[in-house]
Amino acid sequence: MKHSKYFTIALIGLSLTFFSCSKNDDDDTDDDTEAEETTVGVATPVSAFDEFNSDAVTVSFDGDEITIESNGVPNHTSPYWEETNPLYIEPVVAVALTPGRIGGDRSFTLTVSTNPALATVSSATGLGPIGISVTGVPIFNDTEGPNRPIEEQIVETFDYAGAHNGPSGYHYHVESYDVPENTVLSHDDEKLVGIMADGFLIYGRKCDVLGDHPTDLDVSGGHTSATQHSDGVDFYHYHIINEFYLGTIIALFAGNLQGTPSSIF
Ligand SMILES: [Zn+2]
Ligand SMILES: [Zn+2]
Repeated sequence: MKHSKYFTIALIGLSLTFFSCSKNDDDDTDDDTEAEETTVGVATPVSAFDEFNSDAVTVSFDGDEITIESNGVPNHTSPYWEETNPLYIEPVVAVALTPGRIGGDRSFTLTVSTNPALATVSSATGLGPIGISVTGVPIFNDTEGPNRPIEEQIVETFDYAGAHNGPSGYHYHVESYDVPENTVLSHDDEKLVGIMADGFLIYGRKCDVLGDHPTDLDVSGGHTSATQHSDGVDFYHYHIINEFYLGTIIALFAGNLQGTPSSIF
């Protein structure tokens, strides 16, 4: 069984290689692929990585790959800190807390291309980290377990950062709240939110070049434009979609990844 499985994978690999080779050959003559070409494989602006919390996140470059490593420990206050931590605060939005506190031996590593490309087929996200935020905290999707969407009781456990604790540690599900305690996280603005598992950056609800909510987003919140990091160069990136997910909460990322995701381990 094992052998045939590997053989199948090898075959898929071969056919993918073959497909991309023949596709490249066609590109010179096929006008239909022109629109796609302008959005594929543009370099992620390096200055975006200056936004990451350097106490938690290490970014390293190796050839055409970027590796983002995080200990998952944020640089903002939360009721999920141990009460002895200077960043501990009483809950300002959470009604109930999930078990566990920030800290422990966590690490999250993501290696992606410096020039991420749109995939021909998008990928559904799974449980666990689907991106790494600028604070170092992992980004989760809009589910809390198998077939369990974020529902009211789960929303009640979110702190103002849109996060709670789980078996794999402290993680964000939804956009942060507009409260005075929130001084670092994106709330209805153009701040960088993080990087997704497919290597595309995700920004807040507004796009810097518009100063407003973009109206040309795809189903995943992605579009191609310049940002405050790209020096006028257009590249594909996501935004938090400006839509209420449940009540007044806004999911950070509830769609499919439009690139090819790497695993975050
Ligand atoms: Zn969760
Ligand atoms: Zn944008």
